Amino acid sequence: MRKKIIAGNWKMNIKPSETAALVKDIAEATKAYTNVDIVCCTPAIDIPAAVEACKGTQVEAGAENAHWEEKGAYTGEISTGMLVDAGAKYVIIGHSERRQYFGETDETVNKRARAVIAAGLTAIVCVGETLEEREAGKLNEVIERQMNVGLKDVTAADCAKLVIAYEPVWAIGTGKTATPDQAQEVHALIRATLAKLVGADTAETVRIQYGGSMKPGNAAELLAKKDIDGGLIGGAALKAADFAGIIAAAANA
Ligand code: PEP
Repeated sequence: MRKKIIAGNWKMNIKPSETAALVKDIAEATKAYTNVDIVCCTPAIDIPAAVEACKGTQVEAGAENAHWEEKGAYTGEISTGMLVDAGAKYVIIGHSERRQYFGETDETVNKRARAVIAAGLTAIVCVGETLEEREAGKLNEVIERQMNVGLKDVTAADCAKLVIAYEPVWAIGTGKTATPDQAQEVHALIRATLAKLVGADTAETVRIQYGGSMKPGNAAELLAKKDIDGGLIGGAALKAADFAGIIAAAANA
């Protein structure tokens, strides 16, 4: 039985001065749902305020990216050691916006994911196809490549610190959602691909989130699917009531 995990991806939307209030509102609205892991992944500059506001609640703070080197001349980057020091517990890796706008590749996803796991943080590794790739019949090929390269040398033991997010790029921030059957089909493919990398028993333990316009109104039917173990939430994570609605659906799934 995999515990459901709902993570918010705040992207570049919330200021440090706004962070505590949003985290506290989320914690207050979701305190009954103790059977769900709840995470707020925030801009790096918000993390100290998020960590502080998470204290005494069941909400955990996370980051949206991390570099693979421990330290050095990497202007603008943030290391896993800095995130650990600040109290973050999770890091989103390989989000499609990083792939699309910032040159992220499957190889750099792999370096980041391994560094995050080695630091004792949990990596939320994102995979997903563009509309063009889906329409060209390349869905399976793309997902398998992103998994095989992105998770190269990730061991079965590492999987205790791994969450995978399936995020069809065409569904992110567009209001378009994959149907529960479409999502389940890809989640099953992800689990089968992971099984080839780390073994079937371990693959059964890894949580796979769906992301792409998940909201209170569609969360329950997505989360009812066998291999959908949670959600990575963009827009709806910025309003405590909406985020709490999704968490309520996860708690009752
Ligand atoms: C995301 O960016 O991870 C995401 C799923 O965004 P949205 O929920 O807004 O589609």
